[in-house]
Amino acid sequence: MADHDVIVIGAGFAGLYQLHLLRQRGFDVLVIEAGEDVGGTWYWNRYPGARCDIESIEYSYSFDEDLQQEWIWSERYAAQPELLSYARHVADRFDLRRNIAFGARVEALDWDETSRHWTVRTSNGHVRTATYVVAATGCLSVPSRPDLAGLDDFGGELLWTSSWPDDAGLAGKRVAVVGTGSSGLQTITAIAPVVGSLTVFQRTACYAVPAHNGPIGDALSAVKARYTDRRAASRMTPSGYQCPLETTNLAEISATELPAVLDKHWEVGGLCFTDAFADVLVDPDENERVSTWVRERIRAKVDDPAVAAKLLPTFPIATKRLCVDTGYYEVYNQDNVELVDITAEPIERITERGILAGTREHELDVIIMATGFDAMTGALTAMDVRSGDLTLREKWEDGPRTYLGLMSGGFPNLFTVCGPQSPSVLSNMLTSIEYHVGWIANLLSHLRARGLARVEPLPENEDNWVRATNDLADLTLMPQAASWYMGANIPGKQRVFMPFVGGVGMYKQVADGVAAAGYHGFELT
Ligand code: NAP
Repeated sequence: MADHDVIVIGAGFAGLYQLHLLRQRGFDVLVIEAGEDVGGTWYWNRYPGARCDIESIEYSYSFDEDLQQEWIWSERYAAQPELLSYARHVADRFDLRRNIAFGARVEALDWDETSRHWTVRTSNGHVRTATYVVAATGCLSVPSRPDLAGLDDFGGELLWTSSWPDDAGLAGKRVAVVGTGSSGLQTITAIAPVVGSLTVFQRTACYAVPAHNGPIGDALSAVKARYTDRRAASRMTPSGYQCPLETTNLAEISATELPAVLDKHWEVGGLCFTDAFADVLVDPDENERVSTWVRERIRAKVDDPAVAAKLLPTFPIATKRLCVDTGYYEVYNQDNVELVDITAEPIERITERGILAGTREHELDVIIMATGFDAMTGALTAMDVRSGDLTLREKWEDGPRTYLGLMSGGFPNLFTVCGPQSPSVLSNMLTSIEYHVGWIANLLSHLRARGLARVEPLPENEDNWVRATNDLADLTLMPQAASWYMGANIPGKQRVFMPFVGGVGMYKQVADGVAAAGYHGFELT
């Protein structure tokens, strides 16, 4: 008999809820977490300015009515300390810590077909077995460490946004930030007022839409009065959250009307800005109309036209993850801030004194790497996952293969929460996490009620799902951008569009249907 019914890997928002729900249903569950506390993403990513880009009223659990009524968010978009407090509060409120082993990283998973259980090995030498394993390992949890010459030669302090130390002091120092995605933007905006000088090394200019963040105020009680209905509606939206303005088609908006329409959506801000247009990701000409308009907004915020020109993105808006900012572009109007376009002045090497880009050596006290993650598959293939002769790394060499983003054939009883080929990173993660966690718990209850203990997707259904997700993505502009959705940020990684683009509501309908049909496409034994 296995040591546990279920081992859950990770104590972020997915792992915490999976533990709670399965334990409530009488399963014996152990969570194994690499960090020393709960929180996942919000435990590790403590860099200055770290903040969610989905509104707090949506980026929060809905599974417990008392929890959602009692928790008070202070801002429209919660900052990392508040999100971490929330995760800790949930862990304490539901007494979850007693089933979590902290400070141990899962290194290997081995399926034994005879005993029908997984053997789980951790970095601290522990070996445990479980009938089922749920990888709640996060989509953006394995940092990408660019192979920059001389990285170890730097004599100053080298910091990573993805594992920020508590004692980083930046005041008055000469600081560089490499990377201008969401993490870079937030860091740059937060530290610009306190550092001595700031040099930003940009490879690709991004689109950032204003957050219009602020105290949440009365909006929270208005939402709470109808929270259940709101959550139900959010689960049927494409993105897993709701936007205040109605969705329209750009194709129906004339050239003269467009600026006023975009102004209105800009005032709402955030990811809703592009969510509002159903055709923005399918029609290149319509996308270009919005992209051009946003570029003009960016240009207007930056005093020096030469700097502004470097900040203008060239790819179609929203094909890479949109950034949400609070005064990012204005930072470049400060005298102590310099933008280096590394496509024109490539980083030759990191030196003992700083960064050599083109022919210039930038002398620095601190280098901050905000260079992203091996997204979606990175945390799964970082583990040595084996089933007989098959390894997950080999199976996914040409891109991930899953059925519903929940399981991969050949690896029975192993689930992924928000795995590749599910809406995951294209959605409000909390909505998608809750859906997957509930779906997995229902399947395990279903198996137990029938005296069954093994589940695996059928090859044909997996093949169909992979094809369907790729075909759907190909109907959009998304695969055209060199994004982390495509694995394009990791040298050597197969370029395949990884998330399911059909949206949260459509995905729910499919996965609900699969369950209602007795888990169609899965072999239950
Ligand atoms: P990211 O979006 O992948 O950005 C990484 C940045 O580093 C990009 O500008 C990238 O350039 C650059 N870069 C990568 N390798 C480089 C190299 N070798 N040399 C120079 N530049 C390099 O990563 P992230 O900013 O951590 O964000 C990842 C995702 O996490 C986001 O898209 C979002 O989904 C999530 N996130 C959300 C929030 C939020 O809620 N507000 C905050 C942080 C992160 P290229 O674009 O050319 O690859």
